[in-house]
Amino acid sequence: MLDMNKNISFEKIKSLSEEFIMPTYRQSLCLEKGKGIYLYSTDGRVFLDFTSGIAVTNLGHCHPEIIDTICNQSNELMHASNLFYNKLQPQLAEQLVECTGLENAKCFFCNSGAEANEGMIKLARLWGSSTNRYEIITMKQSFHGRTLATLTATGQDKVKKGFGPLPEGFVYADYNKLDSVESLINSSTVAVMVESIQGEGGVIPADKIFLRKLRDLCDCNNILFLCDEVQAGIGRTGKWFGFQHADILPDVISSAKGLGNGFPIGALIAKAELANVFQPGNHATTFGGNPLSSAVSLKVIEIIKNNNLLNNAELIGLHLKSKLTKELSKYEWIDNIRGLGLMLGIVLNVEAIYLQKKLEENGLLAIATAGNILRMLPPMIISIEEANKSIDLIIKSCNDINDEMINLKKL
Ligand SMILES: *Cc1c(COP(=O)(O)O)cnc(C)c1O
Repeated sequence: MLDMNKNISFEKIKSLSEEFIMPTYRQSLCLEKGKGIYLYSTDGRVFLDFTSGIAVTNLGHCHPEIIDTICNQSNELMHASNLFYNKLQPQLAEQLVECTGLENAKCFFCNSGAEANEGMIKLARLWGSSTNRYEIITMKQSFHGRTLATLTATGQDKVKKGFGPLPEGFVYADYNKLDSVESLINSSTVAVMVESIQGEGGVIPADKIFLRKLRDLCDCNNILFLCDEVQAGIGRTGKWFGFQHADILPDVISSAKGLGNGFPIGALIAKAELANVFQPGNHATTFGGNPLSSAVSLKVIEIIKNNNLLNNAELIGLHLKSKLTKELSKYEWIDNIRGLGLMLGIVLNVEAIYLQKKLEENGLLAIATAGNILRMLPPMIISIEEANKSIDLIIKSCNDINDEMINLKKL
Protein backbone atom coordinates (compact mmCIF):
# COMPACT_ATOMS: atom_id res chain seq x y z
CA MET A 1 0.00 0.00 0.00
CA LEU A 2 1.09 3.50 -0.74
CA ASP A 3 1.43 5.87 2.14
CA MET A 4 -1.87 7.76 1.91
CA ASN A 5 -0.50 11.24 2.24
CA LYS A 6 3.24 11.52 2.41
CA ASN A 7 6.28 10.20 0.63
CA ILE A 8 4.68 10.10 -2.78
CA SER A 9 6.53 12.09 -5.39
CA PHE A 10 4.87 14.41 -7.88
CA GLU A 11 6.13 12.17 -10.70
CA LYS A 12 4.41 9.18 -9.09
CA ILE A 13 1.12 11.07 -8.65
CA LYS A 14 1.29 12.16 -12.26
CA SER A 15 2.03 8.70 -13.62
CA LEU A 16 -0.68 7.08 -11.45
CA SER A 17 -3.17 9.69 -12.67
CA GLU A 18 -2.24 9.06 -16.27
CA GLU A 19 -2.57 5.32 -15.76
CA PHE A 20 -5.80 5.18 -13.76
CA ILE A 21 -7.73 8.45 -14.09
CA MET A 22 -9.79 9.23 -17.17
CA PRO A 23 -8.20 12.17 -18.93
CA THR A 24 -11.12 14.59 -18.53
CA TYR A 25 -9.03 17.39 -16.99
CA ARG A 26 -5.84 19.19 -17.94
CA GLN A 27 -4.02 19.19 -14.61
CA SER A 28 -0.70 20.72 -13.69
CA LEU A 29 -0.22 21.41 -9.98
CA CYS A 30 -0.77 18.98 -7.14
CA LEU A 31 -2.21 20.69 -4.06
CA GLU A 32 -1.84 19.06 -0.69
CA LYS A 33 -2.80 21.60 1.96
CA GLY A 34 -5.02 24.63 2.36
CA LYS A 35 -5.47 27.27 5.03
CA GLY A 36 -7.80 30.25 4.73
CA ILE A 37 -7.32 31.77 1.30
CA TYR A 38 -4.00 29.96 0.73
CA LEU A 39 -3.22 26.70 -1.04
CA TYR A 40 0.05 24.78 -0.84
CA SER A 41 1.41 22.49 -3.56
CA THR A 42 3.51 19.36 -3.23
CA ASP A 43 6.50 21.20 -4.70
CA GLY A 44 6.48 23.62 -1.77
CA ARG A 45 4.80 26.61 -3.40
CA VAL A 46 2.04 28.75 -1.90
CA PHE A 47 -0.86 30.32 -3.79
CA LEU A 48 -3.56 32.86 -3.15
CA ASP A 49 -6.67 30.90 -4.06
CA PHE A 50 -8.87 32.94 -6.39
CA THR A 51 -10.70 29.81 -7.56
CA SER A 52 -12.27 28.65 -4.26
CA GLY A 53 -12.52 25.22 -5.88
CA ILE A 54 -14.77 26.91 -8.46
CA ALA A 55 -16.98 28.91 -6.09
CA VAL A 56 -17.13 26.11 -3.51
CA THR A 57 -14.78 26.82 -0.59
CA ASN A 58 -16.28 30.24 0.07
CA LEU A 59 -15.20 30.13 3.73
CA GLY A 60 -11.63 29.30 2.79
CA HIS A 61 -9.75 26.07 3.38
CA CYS A 62 -9.77 24.12 6.63
CA HIS A 63 -12.17 26.46 8.39
CA PRO A 64 -11.95 25.40 12.06
CA GLU A 65 -15.73 25.44 12.63
CA ILE A 66 -16.31 23.32 9.54
CA ILE A 67 -13.64 20.86 10.68
CA ASP A 68 -15.31 20.62 14.10
CA THR A 69 -18.73 20.14 12.55
CA ILE A 70 -17.50 17.30 10.35
CA CYS A 71 -15.69 15.62 13.27
CA ASN A 72 -18.60 15.95 15.68
CA GLN A 73 -21.35 14.92 13.27
CA SER A 74 -19.26 11.95 12.05
CA ASN A 75 -19.24 10.80 15.66
CA GLU A 76 -23.05 11.00 15.85
CA LEU A 77 -24.41 9.84 12.50
CA MET A 78 -23.01 10.27 9.02
CA HIS A 79 -25.67 8.65 6.89
CA ALA A 80 -28.86 6.72 7.44
CA SER A 81 -31.35 7.18 4.63
CA ASN A 82 -34.05 9.50 3.46
CA LEU A 83 -36.40 6.67 4.45
CA PHE A 84 -36.10 8.16 7.94
CA TYR A 85 -36.36 11.64 9.42
CA ASN A 86 -33.03 13.35 9.96
CA LYS A 87 -32.63 15.97 12.66
CA LEU A 88 -30.55 18.35 10.57
CA GLN A 89 -32.05 18.32 7.08
CA PRO A 90 -35.30 20.18 7.95
CA GLN A 91 -33.36 22.75 9.98
CA LEU A 92 -31.12 23.35 6.99
CA ALA A 93 -34.18 23.63 4.75
CA GLU A 94 -35.69 26.24 7.08
CA GLN A 95 -32.50 28.31 6.93
CA LEU A 96 -32.11 27.98 3.19
CA VAL A 97 -35.72 28.96 2.51
CA GLU A 98 -35.24 32.01 4.71
CA CYS A 99 -32.17 32.99 2.66
CA THR A 100 -34.20 32.86 -0.59
CA GLY A 101 -36.95 35.19 0.64
CA LEU A 102 -39.60 32.78 -0.69
CA GLU A 103 -42.50 32.20 1.66
CA ASN A 104 -43.58 28.67 2.51
CA ALA A 105 -41.13 27.24 0.01
CA LYS A 106 -39.79 23.69 0.37
CA CYS A 107 -36.44 22.06 -0.40
CA PHE A 108 -35.18 18.86 -1.94
CA PHE A 109 -31.56 17.96 -1.22
CA CYS A 110 -29.18 16.19 -3.59
CA ASN A 111 -25.41 16.03 -4.10
CA SER A 112 -24.34 18.38 -6.88
CA GLY A 113 -25.27 21.28 -9.11
CA ALA A 114 -26.15 19.14 -12.09
CA GLU A 115 -28.42 17.04 -9.93
CA ALA A 116 -30.12 20.11 -8.50
CA ASN A 117 -30.79 21.38 -12.02
CA GLU A 118 -31.91 17.94 -13.15
CA GLY A 119 -34.40 17.98 -10.26
CA MET A 120 -35.54 21.48 -11.20
CA ILE A 121 -36.14 20.36 -14.80
CA LYS A 122 -38.06 17.28 -13.63
CA LEU A 123 -40.18 19.39 -11.28
CA ALA A 124 -41.05 21.83 -14.07
CA ARG A 125 -41.97 18.99 -16.44
CA LEU A 126 -44.07 17.21 -13.84
CA TRP A 127 -45.90 20.46 -13.08
CA GLY A 128 -46.45 21.05 -16.81
CA SER A 129 -47.53 17.51 -17.59
CA SER A 130 -51.19 18.17 -16.75
CA THR A 131 -51.28 20.87 -19.46
CA ASN A 132 -49.04 18.94 -21.89
CA ARG A 133 -46.21 21.43 -21.58
CA TYR A 134 -42.55 20.42 -21.34
CA GLU A 135 -40.35 22.82 -23.30
CA ILE A 136 -37.75 24.83 -21.36
CA ILE A 137 -36.13 27.98 -22.68
CA THR A 138 -32.49 28.33 -21.54
CA MET A 139 -29.87 30.91 -22.44
CA LYS A 140 -27.00 30.84 -24.90
CA GLN A 141 -23.55 30.52 -23.21
CA SER A 142 -25.27 29.15 -20.12
CA PHE A 143 -23.90 26.26 -18.11
CA HIS A 144 -26.16 23.91 -16.19
CA GLY A 145 -24.17 20.69 -15.71
CA ARG A 146 -22.98 17.49 -17.34
CA THR A 147 -25.85 15.02 -17.02
CA LEU A 148 -27.72 14.35 -20.26
CA ALA A 149 -30.59 16.70 -19.42
CA THR A 150 -28.42 19.46 -17.96
CA LEU A 151 -25.87 19.41 -20.78
CA THR A 152 -28.79 19.69 -23.15
CA ALA A 153 -30.06 22.65 -21.14
CA THR A 154 -26.58 24.17 -21.38
CA GLY A 155 -26.44 26.73 -24.20
CA GLN A 156 -23.03 25.69 -25.53
CA ASP A 157 -22.54 23.21 -28.36
CA LYS A 158 -19.11 22.07 -27.22
CA VAL A 159 -20.43 20.18 -24.18
CA LYS A 160 -22.97 18.26 -26.29
CA LYS A 161 -20.85 16.99 -29.14
CA GLY A 162 -20.94 13.22 -29.48
CA PHE A 163 -23.56 12.61 -26.80
CA GLY A 164 -26.69 12.47 -28.94
CA PRO A 165 -29.49 11.66 -29.12
CA LEU A 166 -30.15 14.34 -26.52
CA PRO A 167 -33.41 14.73 -24.59
CA GLU A 168 -36.00 16.84 -26.38
CA GLY A 169 -37.59 19.99 -25.12
CA PHE A 170 -34.86 22.62 -24.80
CA VAL A 171 -34.54 25.82 -26.84
CA TYR A 172 -32.03 28.63 -26.46
CA ALA A 173 -32.56 32.36 -26.17
CA ASP A 174 -30.07 35.24 -26.22
CA TYR A 175 -29.09 36.11 -22.65
CA ASN A 176 -30.28 39.54 -21.54
CA LYS A 177 -32.59 39.87 -24.57
CA LEU A 178 -36.24 39.69 -23.58
CA ASP A 179 -37.46 39.67 -27.22
CA SER A 180 -35.43 36.57 -27.88
CA VAL A 181 -37.05 34.74 -24.94
CA GLU A 182 -40.51 35.97 -25.89
CA SER A 183 -40.17 34.78 -29.47
CA LEU A 184 -39.48 31.22 -28.28
CA ILE A 185 -42.60 30.92 -26.11
CA ASN A 186 -45.23 28.58 -27.54
CA SER A 187 -48.00 26.31 -26.29
CA SER A 188 -45.43 23.69 -25.13
CA THR A 189 -43.34 26.08 -23.05
CA VAL A 190 -43.30 25.21 -19.38
CA ALA A 191 -40.36 27.22 -18.01
CA VAL A 192 -37.45 29.56 -18.53
CA MET A 193 -34.15 28.65 -16.88
CA VAL A 194 -31.51 31.30 -16.26
CA GLU A 195 -28.34 31.99 -14.28
CA SER A 196 -28.37 35.31 -12.42
CA ILE A 197 -24.73 35.63 -13.48
CA GLN A 198 -23.36 33.30 -16.13
CA GLY A 199 -20.22 31.74 -14.65
CA GLU A 200 -18.60 29.33 -17.11
CA GLY A 201 -20.15 31.43 -19.88
CA GLY A 202 -17.78 34.28 -18.98
CA VAL A 203 -18.92 36.00 -15.76
CA ILE A 204 -21.80 37.83 -17.44
CA PRO A 205 -24.32 39.35 -15.02
CA ALA A 206 -27.97 39.37 -16.02
CA ASP A 207 -29.38 42.87 -16.48
CA LYS A 208 -31.67 43.69 -13.58
CA ILE A 209 -34.28 45.00 -15.98
CA PHE A 210 -34.05 41.81 -18.02
CA LEU A 211 -34.69 39.67 -14.93
CA ARG A 212 -37.63 41.83 -13.87
CA LYS A 213 -39.22 41.77 -17.29
CA LEU A 214 -38.55 38.05 -17.53
CA ARG A 215 -40.42 37.62 -14.25
CA ASP A 216 -43.41 39.47 -15.73
CA LEU A 217 -43.20 37.53 -18.97
CA CYS A 218 -43.28 34.23 -17.07
CA ASP A 219 -46.27 35.38 -14.99
CA CYS A 220 -48.20 36.54 -18.05
CA ASN A 221 -47.67 33.22 -19.81
CA ASN A 222 -48.06 30.99 -16.76
CA ILE A 223 -44.57 29.56 -17.20
CA LEU A 224 -42.03 28.90 -14.46
CA PHE A 225 -38.98 31.03 -13.73
CA LEU A 226 -36.17 28.61 -12.84
CA CYS A 227 -33.01 30.18 -11.48
CA ASP A 228 -29.69 28.31 -11.51
CA GLU A 229 -27.83 29.72 -8.51
CA VAL A 230 -25.32 26.88 -8.32
CA GLN A 231 -22.32 29.18 -8.79
CA ALA A 232 -23.61 32.63 -7.80
CA GLY A 233 -25.59 31.52 -4.73
CA ILE A 234 -24.72 31.23 -1.02
CA GLY A 235 -23.32 34.71 -0.75
CA ARG A 236 -20.68 34.92 -3.44
CA THR A 237 -22.14 38.03 -5.06
CA GLY A 238 -22.71 39.83 -1.77
CA LYS A 239 -26.30 38.64 -1.44
CA TRP A 240 -27.49 35.13 -0.59
CA PHE A 241 -28.57 34.66 -4.20
CA GLY A 242 -27.69 36.54 -7.36
CA PHE A 243 -31.33 37.17 -8.34
CA GLN A 244 -31.72 39.27 -5.19
CA HIS A 245 -29.77 42.06 -6.89
CA ALA A 246 -32.78 42.46 -9.19
CA ASP A 247 -35.38 42.28 -6.39
CA ILE A 248 -37.27 39.43 -7.97
CA LEU A 249 -38.31 35.99 -6.77
CA PRO A 250 -37.90 32.96 -9.02
CA ASP A 251 -40.31 30.01 -8.79
CA VAL A 252 -37.60 27.41 -8.29
CA ILE A 253 -33.95 27.89 -7.32
CA SER A 254 -31.07 25.44 -7.60
CA SER A 255 -28.03 25.60 -5.33
CA ALA A 256 -24.86 23.55 -4.76
CA LYS A 257 -21.16 24.56 -4.95
CA GLY A 258 -20.75 26.92 -1.94
CA LEU A 259 -23.58 25.27 0.00
CA GLY A 260 -21.24 22.69 1.54
CA ASN A 261 -17.92 24.57 1.38
CA GLY A 262 -16.41 21.46 -0.23
CA PHE A 263 -18.66 18.84 1.28
CA PRO A 264 -20.87 17.68 -1.61
CA ILE A 265 -24.47 18.85 -1.34
CA GLY A 266 -27.02 20.39 -3.70
CA ALA A 267 -30.55 21.65 -3.25
CA LEU A 268 -33.60 22.85 -5.06
CA ILE A 269 -35.98 25.24 -3.41
CA ALA A 270 -39.49 25.61 -4.84
CA LYS A 271 -42.07 28.27 -3.98
CA ALA A 272 -45.21 27.37 -2.05
CA GLU A 273 -47.40 26.58 -5.09
CA LEU A 274 -44.79 24.12 -6.37
CA ALA A 275 -43.64 22.77 -3.03
CA ASN A 276 -45.74 19.61 -3.24
CA VAL A 277 -45.36 18.79 -6.93
CA PHE A 278 -42.95 15.96 -6.12
CA GLN A 279 -44.77 13.21 -4.26
CA PRO A 280 -43.41 9.89 -2.93
CA GLY A 281 -42.03 7.97 -5.88
CA ASN A 282 -41.52 10.99 -8.16
CA HIS A 283 -37.99 11.86 -7.18
CA ALA A 284 -35.43 10.60 -4.67
CA THR A 285 -31.77 10.27 -3.80
CA THR A 286 -29.66 8.00 -1.62
CA PHE A 287 -27.16 10.51 -0.26
CA GLY A 288 -28.84 13.89 -0.64
CA GLY A 289 -29.01 15.93 2.55
CA ASN A 290 -27.69 13.16 4.79
CA PRO A 291 -26.90 14.13 8.42
CA LEU A 292 -23.27 14.94 7.67
CA SER A 293 -23.83 17.14 4.61
CA SER A 294 -26.80 18.86 6.28
CA ALA A 295 -24.74 19.60 9.40
CA VAL A 296 -21.97 21.13 7.30
CA SER A 297 -24.39 23.28 5.26
CA LEU A 298 -26.15 24.50 8.38
CA LYS A 299 -22.75 25.54 9.72
CA VAL A 300 -21.87 27.27 6.42
CA ILE A 301 -24.99 29.44 6.65
CA GLU A 302 -24.32 30.17 10.33
CA ILE A 303 -20.70 31.21 9.66
CA ILE A 304 -21.75 33.52 6.82
CA LYS A 305 -24.35 35.17 9.09
CA ASN A 306 -22.19 35.42 12.21
CA ASN A 307 -19.25 36.94 10.36
CA ASN A 308 -21.17 39.29 8.10
CA LEU A 309 -19.61 37.65 5.06
CA LEU A 310 -22.27 38.90 2.65
CA ASN A 311 -21.13 42.38 3.50
CA ASN A 312 -17.48 41.40 3.18
CA ALA A 313 -18.08 39.84 -0.25
CA GLU A 314 -19.80 43.00 -1.41
CA LEU A 315 -17.17 45.41 -0.05
CA ILE A 316 -14.04 43.48 -1.04
CA GLY A 317 -15.65 42.74 -4.39
CA LEU A 318 -16.21 46.45 -5.02
CA HIS A 319 -12.66 47.22 -3.91
CA LEU A 320 -11.14 44.59 -6.22
CA LYS A 321 -13.30 45.70 -9.11
CA SER A 322 -12.59 49.41 -8.82
CA LYS A 323 -8.86 48.98 -8.12
CA LEU A 324 -8.34 46.52 -10.96
CA THR A 325 -10.43 48.64 -13.34
CA LYS A 326 -8.18 51.59 -12.57
CA GLU A 327 -4.85 49.74 -12.58
CA LEU A 328 -5.44 47.48 -15.58
CA SER A 329 -6.94 50.06 -17.94
CA LYS A 330 -3.48 50.84 -19.32
CA TYR A 331 -3.09 47.39 -20.89
CA GLU A 332 -4.41 47.43 -24.42
CA TRP A 333 -5.19 43.70 -24.23
CA ILE A 334 -7.55 44.17 -21.28
CA ASP A 335 -11.05 45.52 -21.97
CA ASN A 336 -12.72 45.74 -18.57
CA ILE A 337 -13.54 44.07 -15.26
CA ARG A 338 -17.08 42.82 -14.73
CA GLY A 339 -19.10 40.84 -12.22
CA LEU A 340 -20.79 41.16 -8.85
CA GLY A 341 -19.30 40.78 -5.39
CA LEU A 342 -16.58 38.16 -5.45
CA MET A 343 -17.61 36.71 -8.78
CA LEU A 344 -15.40 38.77 -11.08
CA GLY A 345 -14.01 38.47 -14.57
CA ILE A 346 -11.14 40.28 -16.26
CA VAL A 347 -12.29 40.63 -19.85
CA LEU A 348 -9.34 40.36 -22.24
CA ASN A 349 -9.38 40.77 -26.01
CA VAL A 350 -6.96 37.83 -26.32
CA GLU A 351 -6.88 34.29 -24.89
CA ALA A 352 -6.95 34.38 -21.07
CA ILE A 353 -4.95 31.19 -20.52
CA TYR A 354 -1.58 32.99 -20.71
CA LEU A 355 -2.57 35.33 -17.91
CA GLN A 356 -3.83 32.37 -15.87
CA LYS A 357 -0.44 30.66 -16.31
CA LYS A 358 1.54 33.78 -15.38
CA LEU A 359 -0.60 34.36 -12.29
CA GLU A 360 0.01 30.76 -11.24
CA GLU A 361 3.75 31.24 -11.71
CA ASN A 362 3.56 34.34 -9.51
CA GLY A 363 1.42 32.65 -6.83
CA LEU A 364 -2.25 33.28 -7.58
CA LEU A 365 -4.75 30.75 -8.89
CA ALA A 366 -7.62 31.93 -11.10
CA ILE A 367 -9.55 30.34 -13.96
CA ALA A 368 -9.56 31.19 -17.64
CA THR A 369 -13.05 30.65 -19.06
CA ALA A 370 -14.99 31.26 -22.28
CA GLY A 371 -11.68 31.88 -24.07
CA ASN A 372 -10.96 35.48 -23.14
CA ILE A 373 -12.19 35.77 -19.55
CA LEU A 374 -10.02 35.42 -16.45
CA ARG A 375 -12.47 34.40 -13.75
CA MET A 376 -11.72 35.31 -10.13
CA LEU A 377 -13.64 33.68 -7.28
CA PRO A 378 -11.80 34.46 -4.05
CA PRO A 379 -13.17 33.09 -0.77
CA MET A 380 -15.69 35.31 1.03
CA ILE A 381 -13.39 35.46 4.08
CA ILE A 382 -10.78 37.45 2.14
CA SER A 383 -9.43 40.48 4.04
CA ILE A 384 -8.62 43.87 2.59
CA GLU A 385 -4.88 43.15 3.09
CA GLU A 386 -5.16 39.89 1.20
CA ALA A 387 -7.13 41.63 -1.54
CA ASN A 388 -4.44 44.29 -1.88
CA LYS A 389 -1.71 41.67 -1.98
CA SER A 390 -3.66 39.93 -4.76
CA ILE A 391 -4.06 43.16 -6.70
CA ASP A 392 -0.29 43.74 -6.56
CA LEU A 393 0.30 40.23 -7.82
CA ILE A 394 -2.17 40.65 -10.67
CA ILE A 395 -0.55 43.94 -11.72
CA LYS A 396 2.91 42.37 -11.58
CA SER A 397 1.72 39.45 -13.70
CA CYS A 398 0.19 41.78 -16.29
CA ASN A 399 3.48 43.69 -16.46
CA ASP A 400 5.45 40.47 -16.80
CA ILE A 401 3.52 39.34 -19.88
CA ASN A 402 2.61 42.69 -21.41
CA ASP A 403 5.05 42.35 -24.33
CA GLU A 404 3.78 38.89 -25.26
CA MET A 405 0.11 39.81 -24.84
CA ILE A 406 0.37 42.86 -27.10
CA ASN A 407 1.53 40.57 -29.88
CA LEU A 408 -1.27 37.99 -29.49
CA LYS A 409 -4.04 37.71 -32.03
CA LYS A 410 -7.06 39.77 -30.97
CA LEU A 411 -10.20 37.69 -30.44
C1 LIG B 1 -20.93 24.22 -11.69
C2 LIG B 1 -22.27 24.54 -12.19
C3 LIG B 1 -23.24 23.55 -12.41
C4 LIG B 1 -22.90 22.09 -12.24
O1 LIG B 1 -22.59 21.76 -10.94
P1 LIG B 1 -21.89 20.36 -10.62
O2 LIG B 1 -21.84 20.32 -9.13
O3 LIG B 1 -20.53 20.40 -11.26
O4 LIG B 1 -22.72 19.29 -11.20
C5 LIG B 1 -24.50 23.94 -12.80
N1 LIG B 1 -24.81 25.23 -12.98
C6 LIG B 1 -23.91 26.21 -12.78
C7 LIG B 1 -24.33 27.63 -12.98
C8 LIG B 1 -22.61 25.90 -12.40
O5 LIG B 1 -21.72 26.88 -12.22
